[in-house]
Amino acid sequence: MRKIILSAMLFLVATAASAATVVDVNFVVPQSIVDAKGREALFSGIKADLAGVDSYYLSQYTGIVKDGKPEDIKFNLRQIVVVSDKSSDAACADGMVFSSSVLYWDGQIARRDGKHPEDLGYDLDETCVSPEDYEAIRVAGSSSGADVWVNLQDKLASGLGGMAGQPSDIALVVQDHAATGHYVKAGDLAHEFFHLLGGVDLYNTPEAAKCEQGGEWNGRLMCGGVEPSPLLFGANTWIDEKLFLQRFYNNPSTTVADWTMGATFYGSVYKASGAALMTAPANAERVAELAVSGTTLSKDVPNVTLSVKIKKPVLASNPDDKTPVAVEVYSQGATAKAGAEYIDNLTQTVTFDPLNPDYQVNADNEWVKEVVLTAKDLNYNGTKSMLVGLRNGNATAVNATPTSISVVGSAPDLNPDEDTVAAENGGGGGSSAPLVVLGLAAMAFMRRKTK
Ligand SMILES: [Zn+2]
Repeated sequence: MRKIILSAMLFLVATAASAATVVDVNFVVPQSIVDAKGREALFSGIKADLAGVDSYYLSQYTGIVKDGKPEDIKFNLRQIVVVSDKSSDAACADGMVFSSSVLYWDGQIARRDGKHPEDLGYDLDETCVSPEDYEAIRVAGSSSGADVWVNLQDKLASGLGGMAGQPSDIALVVQDHAATGHYVKAGDLAHEFFHLLGGVDLYNTPEAAKCEQGGEWNGRLMCGGVEPSPLLFGANTWIDEKLFLQRFYNNPSTTVADWTMGATFYGSVYKASGAALMTAPANAERVAELAVSGTTLSKDVPNVTLSVKIKKPVLASNPDDKTPVAVEVYSQGATAKAGAEYIDNLTQTVTFDPLNPDYQVNADNEWVKEVVLTAKDLNYNGTKSMLVGLRNGNATAVNATPTSISVVGSAPDLNPDEDTVAAENGGGGGSSAPLVVLGLAAMAFMRRKTK
């Protein structure tokens, strides 16, 4: 948790600068979802979708005021952690405590007095968390200080769109981007986040009918499936939601015990609320920067090496500081596309952990890790383009200006290679070749018709 005052420069049109409390968010995504959606598209899409959650927690809806001024809650993407498909099992997703459990067993968060996670089944379930996944989450915790961990899943055993487990775990069903334009349904994430603060499902109460069309609770966030509006939060027989949010703001380091309402919602065994779980590690003057070995991919030069550097990593004020630094290196296709002209494996969080120094230290005493951008199919004539850059993470400053890479194609000889065609058709069975030809002819017709 940290608080920032957004610069007035960001609000050229707005009437007044607005203050915001920032909640740091990590996403945990199983490998199968990364593979299905595409790494570049998924990582940038999650960042865009998370920004949509901010519009549910504007002061004008929550009523949160600090020193007489409106205070928004904003959600800041820290890291996207890719884990094995063990965690994508629906039963594991509904267990809901795996990120918190890792943080607890690693000593990053504490338990409440008198509560023992292992007695409540919140022990580390190795059927859901492999040693490699434990390590990935452990490092991400220490280098991000994330307050909320969103575990994307294909589906949940409960059949719900999302579930929340205090203090910090949210399971959320990944959206069909082709159909919806989103990977994350902002309204569902906004709803689950309020559970971490102690919010109650109004659709599960005896007064659930009030959530329906025409009902007095219709439009409430905790009724579910709603858009941003002044109706999101209010007072009801279960909790006064606006008072709840104001209390959260007044005392952000409050414990979950202060926040849960006894029988109306289950309390957490862990200390601190989901919104104030951890403190992002500060990194003094450490600056992340990207250097590239070249700005052109071609058949002659099919790789560009990207060096992620942390400048001034040794703090003058504290040379023994062991604070980890993390930053995301990303690709962004323009006329060249990930998975087509270049391999879609570049986008990733790069972590520098002085306690596990698996990085190089160069002559300038900078920490360096290298990742490689690799060309894929360059069988075209001309030059396409894409970008590489840095974003997110906890470096104090990130040189965020992306670098443009030219992806130069060179088509092979256009004379058809009769031998190759014959060999491919020969393996496909006697009747398939005419069907393929017919299909191609139909596609050509469709293209002409739709131009
Ligand atoms: Zn709910």
